[in-house]
This record gives sequence, C-alpha cells and structure tokens, in this order.
Amino acid sequence: MYAQKPLTAYKLPEKQWQETAQPQKNMNFGKCRDHTRRVESQTLSHLVRLRADILRSSHSEQQIREYYQTLYAAWGPQHWWPARARFEVIVGTYLTQNTSWNNVEAALRNLRGANVLSVHAIRKIPVAELERLIRPAGYFRQKAARLKTFVAFLDRQYGGSLSRMFHRPTEKLREELLQLNGVGPETADSILLYGGQREVFVVDAYARRLLARHGILPENTAYEEVRSLMERALSAATAILPSAVPMQPLPAHEPSPVSSLRRSPVAQIYNDGHGLIVAVGKRFCLKSKPHCDGCPLQKFLP
Ligand code: SF4
Repeated sequence: MYAQKPLTAYKLPEKQWQETAQPQKNMNFGKCRDHTRRVESQTLSHLVRLRADILRSSHSEQQIREYYQTLYAAWGPQHWWPARARFEVIVGTYLTQNTSWNNVEAALRNLRGANVLSVHAIRKIPVAELERLIRPAGYFRQKAARLKTFVAFLDRQYGGSLSRMFHRPTEKLREELLQLNGVGPETADSILLYGGQREVFVVDAYARRLLARHGILPENTAYEEVRSLMERALSAATAILPSAVPMQPLPAHEPSPVSSLRRSPVAQIYNDGHGLIVAVGKRFCLKSKPHCDGCPLQKFLP
C-alpha cells in the first residue's frame, strides 16, 4: 500500500486557488485557435520544404555517382598519392598549398636528394636548410615552419610515430590536425585519406567548380556541406570491378607504394573520385573557362 498523502498537502493558498479555478477574464479562445492553426501551417510548410530538400539532395547524390562512374569508365584509376611513404604524403600536402604539383615535385626531389624525407630528418634539419630545399614550392619560410610544427606535434602526441598517430579514431585525429598551424580542412582530409587510408573525402577547388558549373552547389558552399554531400554520394557508389577497362586510360601517376596500399572500398572510391575530379579540373574544367567539348561530363550539363 502506498502511504496516503494528507489532503491538506494538495491545498493551494486561497488566492492561487481562485486564480486557477476561475476562467481568465481576458482569455480569448478564438485567438488560441488562430495560433494553433498558424503553428500547424508553419509545421506543414517546414515538412514540405524538408521533403523537397531531401529529394533535391538525393538527386544530387545520384548525379555525383554518375559523374564518378562516367569518369572512371573513361579514364580509370588515377593512382593518388604518388609517394613512397606516408610521411612523404604529409610533406606533399603541406607543399602543395597554393602551388602546382610540378613545383611540389621539384621540392620533393630536393628533399629526397638530401635524404631528409623522413620524420627524423625533418626534426633534425636546420630551418634555413629546409627552407632552401623546399623553395621551389613557394611560401618556403611558412611551409618549413609548418613542417617543423607537424613533427613537433607528432613527437609530443605520438612519440614521433606515424603508426600511432594513424591508430587514432578518424574524427579525433581530424580535430587534432585542424588545430595545427597551416592545416585547414583540405590538408587535414588529404592527410587522413591519402596518408591514413581513412574514409574522408577531400574537397578542393576543382570539386567546387565542377559542382557549381553543373548547378549542384554554389562554389562558396561551406567545406563541410560539400564534403558531406560527396561522402553520401560516393559511399553508395557501385564498386567498379577492377577488370573494368577504361575507354581512354588517363592515369595521373604511375602506381606507387602509397597508392597501392590496402584501403576499404569506400576509401578507394574517395581516392579515385578525388583524383578523377582533379583530372577533369586540369584538363577541361579550367578556372578561366570550361572546355566542355570532349569532357566526359558534357552530357550531364544542366
Ligand atoms: S568542362 Fe564543362 S562538362 Fe566538363 S566538368 Fe566542366 S562544366 Fe562540366
């Protein structure tokens, strides 16, 4: 049995009881009904808008999958990243900021020639010497300092071990990388996808331009929004069979020890997807003017 609560415990003070029991003098029930109808109609139009957004988004995802499949069927795998080791990928992601890949290759050749393309060597090399070696990649002072910052981070957090670093869960590692000087989302995601074989799509200017010119997303859309769309689209892309023969093979690079590393099917599609978009951007979808004639994506133009 529950203990009975004495009735007095429920007793309201006299004044409060009167206020509760009596209808409010100025209460307007018509106004309440109007308000309810207004809320219902707002909710309904919100749901209609939400449904339209979902339909538009799933249509965009389907378009992106078709672009990927068309490009892959035309050109085949692009074999990114052209590097012998994961640390070389990381150095490359810093060096490629605001410059062309040819310049990056020249700087990497210098580093390789001086035998300093390793965590240990970058830790030891005097900054002035590092600046001299990476000079062809431009912004050499800034980039040398950022490489030193990365190695200091690796030493502090992971005892200098890339393997330990890449054992960190993707989102947590991404957050840490984004805290480093000179690491924006594109650099962090390049390190994760190409260095760590993580399922993270890299959004760059080529992808933004392509999506904008095909009426999918404006070019200034926030990075995370573009990444989310690309990941939703490509993670559901049908895997292309390795035996599929491209019509006109156009590999950006020869297979390298890093491009041949094992990765999940989704990470492989992100890898190829990004590489193929870069290839379109460099060959056809130029910043100054698109050359749509001959571009495999021409048939998808709005
Ligand atoms: S070049 Fe033309 S067809 Fe090709 S991706 Fe750019 S806008 Fe599309």
